[in-house]
Amino acid sequence: MFKTREEALKSSRGIMGMITRDPAFSEDSRIERLGRRFVMVSTEYFVTGLMHDITEFAGEEAAAIILYRGGFNSGRVIFQRYLSLVNDREMALEMCAASAWYFGWGIATVYHEEVDGEEIGYARIYDSFEAEEYGDEDALGEKRCHFIRGVLAGIMSEYAGRIYEAEETKCKAAGYDYCEFVIRPREEVESIPSV
Ligand SMILES: [Zn+2]
Repeated sequence: MFKTREEALKSSRGIMGMITRDPAFSEDSRIERLGRRFVMVSTEYFVTGLMHDITEFAGEEAAAIILYRGGFNSGRVIFQRYLSLVNDREMALEMCAASAWYFGWGIATVYHEEVDGEEIGYARIYDSFEAEEYGDEDALGEKRCHFIRGVLAGIMSEYAGRIYEAEETKCKAAGYDYCEFVIRPREEVESIPSV
C-alpha cells in the first residue's frame, strides 16, 4: 500500500538520516534556484554515465554530438534568462560565467574580441565537472567537455545573434590544468531558430 505524501516524506527523512548527516538539498524535495526547479544528479551519471550509454547504442561521435546539442540549447536559454534580468548583453555574459560557479559546473572566465572583423569568444573553465569525472583509464588524453562546449556555443550564439560553434583547445581530462575553448561563428550564415 502506498504511503501518503507526508508519510513518504517522513520515512525518507528517517532513512536518509541513518546514512548521512548532510542536510537535504530541500526539505520538501523541490529544489528551486532563480525561479527554476533543479534536480541533483551525480556527475557519475551526468555526464560520464550518459556518455557511456549513448556511446553503447549510437557510437562515441553521436554521443559527443548529442551532448553538444543539449549544451547548445541550454546555453541559449541560460543567456536569454540572464539577459531578460539585466537587459545588458555584456553583463548577461558575465552572469553566465558566474553561474557556472554557482551551480557547481566549474569556475569560468570569458572574454571576446574582434579578429578580422569577426567577434570571437574565449573561455577558460577551472575544475570543469565534465572533465574531472573521467578517470585516467577513460580519458586517454582526449578532450571531454562536449556538453560545456555546446553551452558556450549557445551562449555566444545568443550574444551575437548568429550561430557559433565551440572548440575545446585544452582539457583537464587530457592532462591540462584547466579547460579552454574558442568560440567562432559558423561559416554559413543562418538565422537562429527560436528556442
Ligand atoms: Zn575539458
